[in-house]
Amino acid sequence: MNIAFHPDSRGFYGRFGGIYIPEILKANFDELAEKYLAILESDDFQNDYDALLRDYVGRPSPLYKSEALSKVHGCKVYLKREDLNHTGAHKINNAIGQILLAKRMGKSRIIAETGAGQHGVATATVCALMKMPCVVYMGVTDIARQMPNVRKMKLLGAEVKPVESGNGTLKDAVNEAFRDWVTHPAETFYLIGSAVGPHPYPDIVARLQSVISSEIKQQLLDKEGRDNMDYLVACLGGGSNAAGTFYHYLDDARVRLIVAEAGGLGVSSGKTAATIALGSEGILHGARTYVMQDKDGQITEPYSISAGLDYPGVGPLHAQLAATKRATPIAVNDDEALAAAYELNALDGILPAIESAHALAALHKLSFKPTDIVVVTLSGRGDKDIDTYMKYAAQYGINPNL
Ligand SMILES: *Cc1c(COP(=O)(O)O)cnc(C)c1O
Repeated sequence: MNIAFHPDSRGFYGRFGGIYIPEILKANFDELAEKYLAILESDDFQNDYDALLRDYVGRPSPLYKSEALSKVHGCKVYLKREDLNHTGAHKINNAIGQILLAKRMGKSRIIAETGAGQHGVATATVCALMKMPCVVYMGVTDIARQMPNVRKMKLLGAEVKPVESGNGTLKDAVNEAFRDWVTHPAETFYLIGSAVGPHPYPDIVARLQSVISSEIKQQLLDKEGRDNMDYLVACLGGGSNAAGTFYHYLDDARVRLIVAEAGGLGVSSGKTAATIALGSEGILHGARTYVMQDKDGQITEPYSISAGLDYPGVGPLHAQLAATKRATPIAVNDDEALAAAYELNALDGILPAIESAHALAALHKLSFKPTDIVVVTLSGRGDKDIDTYMKYAAQYGINPNL
């Protein structure tokens, strides 16, 4: 296959990606681009990273066959259980890797942005582990709806800085983190939470999350006698869990790649975060990608019930996957995601993150053959979403007073 799903030397996946940054950060990005590959590929890094993933995060995460969902969908449904990781989502894989990178680059201060709070918690966690000061930028809307994660970050010793601009969500938090970095460029490492931003971040994050697909390959081979599935499904915010889920299958034409993006109240409702369905090409957070924008190029405020998918762009790899039709986007609305979350909870006793529930709901929009193997990444657990799930329970036939 000659379509590029890995960045060229200037950070482009086809026409997407690149490095669109203020002059003052140029030295930082030059340094990062020059050093990251050698560090990530070194034995020293790999040994530390593998040991922490195994002993601290609890990897490999299981590949669980849900007999109940297999029956519902008439095929074999496997769940990749990133919800069982320490701190409750896939985000920790990336946070561990980036803090090891920051240390090897001699940085002494970590900044991060967070939406659902999962990346903030993951970053605050690895900063506690490595004894590094940590500042997390978080939109005020997200602070209100993800309070347990805000408390966790504070307990871990991180400073949580509320961001009032825009509608107080992830996009605004990313802007503030960049602003901070411009003011403290030398000693600070920006520990970005998704496969977004200027090169080389999308590649760093995809590589660090690719542990997901390398484990799936081995686990599927052990369970099914073949290392490829027919469908591979992940939810799509900025695109880190999807990038890690797809990584070792990007060039494997036997595998259909499906991304579930957040439809919100409906793709044409004006309250949505379905970037691939609605977006057009533009620059967001330092990269050329699909962006939800108005005719003047102003970013449209996204909406989703899930804080982790409430982002008006996608990482450049996902723009390339969609533009070349390698991946198929499916928009999943709030109500469909909620139904899928209650369904998994009732059938398997697993309460998924509301983000991950979008990937589960996408299965209801596909049809499968009995021999099909479908792997869905369960990116996180639903503890942080308990209030949301309680609020809507009665509407889905569950008695919340039980
Ligand atoms: C942050 C988050 C997401 C979305 O981020 P990606 O970078 O697209 O993976 C999905 N699921 C959970 C549980 C999250 O915390």
